[in-house]
This record gives sequence, structure tokens and C-alpha cells, in this order.
Amino acid sequence: MIVILKNNITPKEKDKIINVLEDRGFIIKEIKGQQDTVLGAVGMAQMDLREIEVLPGVASVIPISKPYKLASRELKKEDTIVTVGRNKVKIGGNRVVIIAGPCAVESREQIMEIAASVREAGAVILRGGAFKPRTSPYSFQGLGEEGLKYLREAGDTYTMPVCTEVVSPRDVEMMTKYIDMFQIGARNMQNFELLKEVGKTGMPVLLKRGMSATIEEWLMAAEYLMANGTDQIVLCERGIRTYEKATRNTLDCSAIPVVQKLTHLPVIGDPSHATGIRDLVSPMALALVASGAHGIAVEVHNHPEKALSDGPQSLFPQQFEKLVRDVQTLCPVVGKSLETRPRIIPKNITDDSANAATILTGERVVAFQGERGAFSELATRRAFGEDVKVLPLPTFRSCFEAVQTGNAEYAVLPVENTLGGTIYDNLDLLQTHPGITVVGEQQVRVIHNLIVNPGTRFEDIRRVYSHPQGLAQCKEFLEKYLPDVQQVPFFDTAGSVSYIKKEKEMDSAAIAGAPAAAYNEMEILREGIETNPKNYTRFYIITREEHAESFKKGIQSNTASVLFTLNDEPGALSRILDVLSSRKHNMSKLESRPIQGRPWEYSFFVEIWFDDEEYAHETFRMLSKVAAQFRVLGVYRRNH
Ligand code: PEP
Ligand code: MN
Repeated sequence: MIVILKNNITPKEKDKIINVLEDRGFIIKEIKGQQDTVLGAVGMAQMDLREIEVLPGVASVIPISKPYKLASRELKKEDTIVTVGRNKVKIGGNRVVIIAGPCAVESREQIMEIAASVREAGAVILRGGAFKPRTSPYSFQGLGEEGLKYLREAGDTYTMPVCTEVVSPRDVEMMTKYIDMFQIGARNMQNFELLKEVGKTGMPVLLKRGMSATIEEWLMAAEYLMANGTDQIVLCERGIRTYEKATRNTLDCSAIPVVQKLTHLPVIGDPSHATGIRDLVSPMALALVASGAHGIAVEVHNHPEKALSDGPQSLFPQQFEKLVRDVQTLCPVVGKSLETRPRIIPKNITDDSANAATILTGERVVAFQGERGAFSELATRRAFGEDVKVLPLPTFRSCFEAVQTGNAEYAVLPVENTLGGTIYDNLDLLQTHPGITVVGEQQVRVIHNLIVNPGTRFEDIRRVYSHPQGLAQCKEFLEKYLPDVQQVPFFDTAGSVSYIKKEKEMDSAAIAGAPAAAYNEMEILREGIETNPKNYTRFYIITREEHAESFKKGIQSNTASVLFTLNDEPGALSRILDVLSSRKHNMSKLESRPIQGRPWEYSFFVEIWFDDEEYAHETFRMLSKVAAQFRVLGVYRRNH
């Protein structure tokens, strides 16, 4: 059952509830959500829910209808984010994570070489089997503990956590010394003694779907792990046994969205074991990402023809590199971003500095403009992780002020939308806040939804609220399906959702992103109603200059945003452009803005691409000589 606690519950009241439930033999799990705190109580005991409902501090009690309890979405509405290894690679939510490596660790040289190449291409977790559950007893069985040592060394050298298969309960303890994530293979998905032993470690687990397991059986296996002590589980669809022989297994992509409805646990896909054929791996990997998978696990080998296991399905390193680029391109289409690490690993990099660069923990406060659930919050969580502390503020200016005064360390602000164009306010604010610099960018695909109070039907709608941009971007849908309703412009999209909720308007809808519906517990009646699906917004991540280096440590910058003014004379702008062209910089944006207080004078805003930061600084020196005034607003990494 799920016990929803009142917001003003006292610690004593909570202890009392826990005691009553534990006395009846329930295992209790406390889950703190964005809105409220709940206790999940699971066990064999039967109990009249009303006995709990009457206890002080209880808001309500809901039975869990599914046989899996701790794993069920009913118990926990928010996505679980699994954190793997010392460098805290995260899986779940809006990220796509890439796990790669050979089927088996074959030698120290082999795993080191493959680790280097998959890391360079963009993998964030290293895989490799040391215990191989082979169909034939005469096939290579893996290097055992020796293989684990090599895997650990490769993971440490290339700052990737390592994941490997466990096949026997007696190896579990020994393996905890070497690895960051256990893999339960398809053949062992229902090896309950193994699940119990692995669950007890509390460590992250990659739980593969059994070859002929139903989704429910798979989730029951996850429940075994959870009931025994770990909640760090990543499900992995790896193909199921069907009558089809053209592929090794049949990849069940539809399992991905089905599972996501049923459980809060992240789910990834393994196109290598699903297909068994190298040429099918990349297309199926993309299909998995398109299906909403939180990542892929792919077999890669430096010499697949010599591989001791699964050579025919292992990608060549170059194929893997191309796949990562394709996945990266696909991510924004499905509203996700690729979990990345710096591409070039500086020499002697420590884990901590790698973390500072890419894995930002929940300690920082990041401001954004708008209400909870706004697209800006989505961008913030994508850039900083789900557990970051957010500070929603009413205006862009208040975000700049929060960063300046130290109330927030960073702010995430929109600068450009592919349909609406530049958001000038933020460029102007950058101009008037010289101590603040751009350190990063985040792109988000804007997907609009028609959101209503639960119970409102499509035919009840008389009014639609949204930001004017939201209304404009859904013009075709509104004209076609809701031609007679009143369109009410609102100051922001997420705000329009909380407004119709607060006013209990049962004959109104709001247009906003899915997080606004989730945050306000409202219903999405129609998804993706925007006229043009190629609707992306770019956000700048800004901070005070003194924090810039710690944010960017280990990240290779490739873009600069600069601002300049010109002397009022013929050819002034072309001299700037000459510098950029002779130094072969691509220029992705050129805007002119009126200078406040100086009528008919303009400043120019340009984004410049570069490969080498030193070279770019030389360009800046040259530009500052030909411009009247010149300022670098920020140097950061952009995903071109
Ligand atoms: C593996 O990942 O190497 C493996 C054996 O996978 P599965 O258990 O999915 O067959
Ligand atoms: Mn394999």
C-alpha cells in the first residue's frame, strides 16, 4: 500500500505510522517526491487500509494493484535516477546513457584498447564479461577474477564506471571489490537466489530481460532486488525468443514505453544481443532511443573477427563512433540529451575534477525564469541533473540579480528559439551585467501539450490559456480542432497550467510542456500539438566569472559569444568579418541591438566557432583592435 503523508506531519506521528506497519510485518520505504512524501509498505500481511487511514499525519492510503510493489509507478511517480560509480554517472530521467565494451574481457591489452576507444567516442560506462554464461560448456567461459582486475584498471584509467555480469551468488562479495554495477544476464533473470544476494549489496544493477520473460516477470525480478535492498536498478531490453530465426532474438522496442508506464526504474536497450548481427546494431540502437530508452548497451571490439565471444554482433570502433553521433543527433527529438563526459581527457585528470565538469550535484542552486514545470526548468534539470536545487523566479532580470548576489550560483536562460527567433532581453541583460559570463548551453525540444484538470473532456473546452508563443506555435491544431474556443494569452506556459488548476476551470485547457502537467498533477489530453515539430530552444547557462573555471574544468570549449560596437565609419563591420573569415571561424549568429541611451547606435552580437581555445583568444585580440569596444560574453561548449 501507499501511505501519503500530510505535509505538516510531525516526526513522532511518522514514527508511529512506521511502527504500526512494521509490527504487522511490512517493509517500509520512504519516498520524498516533489509534491509530497509517501511511505510504501510492502509485505505478505493483509490489513484493513482504514486502520492506517485514521492515524494522525496520514493524508490517504492507496492500495498498489500490481504484483510488483516497490518497482511500480503507482508507488513512485517520479523517475528513479540511478547513480553509478565514483564518477557518478547517472541513468534515467531525460538522459541517454551509452554503455559499451566487449562481450568478454579477453586480456588486459584488449580491454584497455577498447576502453580507450569507446571512451573517446562517448561511452560513459564500460562493460565486459568476466564470467560468461555460454550455451556450450566448451566455449570460452571468461577470465574470472583476473578479468575483473583488468576491467577495473581500464575503468579507472579512462574514468568510466564498470559493469559486468554475475552468474553465481558465491561471487557476489568478491565482485563488489572490483565493479560499480552488477549485470544480471538474461539466463539468470529468474535466478532468485542470485537476485537476493545481489540485492543485498545495495549496488546498482543492470537487469536484463529473460529470453522468454513477460514484462511482468521482468518487473518481479526487479522487485526481488528491491525487496532485498537495492533501489538502483536499470532494466535492459535485450530481445526475446520468438519463432523468428533471421535475428538472434526479437528486439521488443514496444517494451520500452510499456515498462515506463509501469515502473519508475530507468530502462535501456541492448541491440547487440537482440539482433546478433553487426549491421543491425546501429539501426536498432536508434530505434531504442526513439522508443524512449534511457540508454543503450552495445558490444564493441577492436578485432571482432578474433573475438572469443559474440564477434559477429560487435561493432568496430569506427561504427560505434558514428552510432554515438547519430544518437546525439536523435536525442533532442525525443526530448533527451546524451550523458556526456569530456571528449578529450586531460592528462592526470582526477575523478573529482571530471565530476566537477560534467556531473553537477544537487548542492548548487540554479535559477530559471517561470513557474515550476516550465521549459526553462526542463533545461535546468537536463543541464544539472534532476536533483539540482532550482530557484524559479518571475523575470529574466531577477535571474541575473540572483546570480549576481549569490542567491543562485547559475541561471539557465533562453536565448533563441528555432521558430520565435532571438530572445533579446537576455542578450541585453548580458550586456548590462559585466561580471556575468556564459559557461554552457542547453538545447531543449519544445513539445506542447493540451493540458486540463482531470475529468475535463475535449468537448468541454471553451478557453485555452498559454504564452502567446505557445498559442501561436499550436495555431493549426487550435484552428482545426478547437476553432470556437477563446484563446487567452498568459505570461508563461507553465503558469497557465497552475492557473487553471488553482481556479478549478473545468472548461479550460492550457498549452505547456509535459513537466508542467506532471508537476501540477494535471491531465494531458493531446500530446505534441505544435504545428512545427522542429521547435527547439537554446538556453545559456550563466554564472559569475569566478565560478566559470570550476564549471568548465575538463570540458573543451568550442564556441564564443562576443559583443562589440563599431566606430561610425564605412567598412567598420566588414573589417570584423574579414578577421573572422581570414581566421576561418564559422559564425553562427549575428545580431545588431540598439545601444540604450545612444539613439541610432548599435552593438553587435556574434557567436563564433573554434577548435582551439588559444587560437580563438588570438582572434579576440585581433577583433578588439578593429572594434570600438569588444567583450567576450562567454566561452563554452556547444553541441553543434
Ligand atoms: C552479455 O551482455 O554479454 C550477455 C550475455 O547478455 P544476455 O544476458 O542479454 O544474453
Ligand atoms: Mn555478449
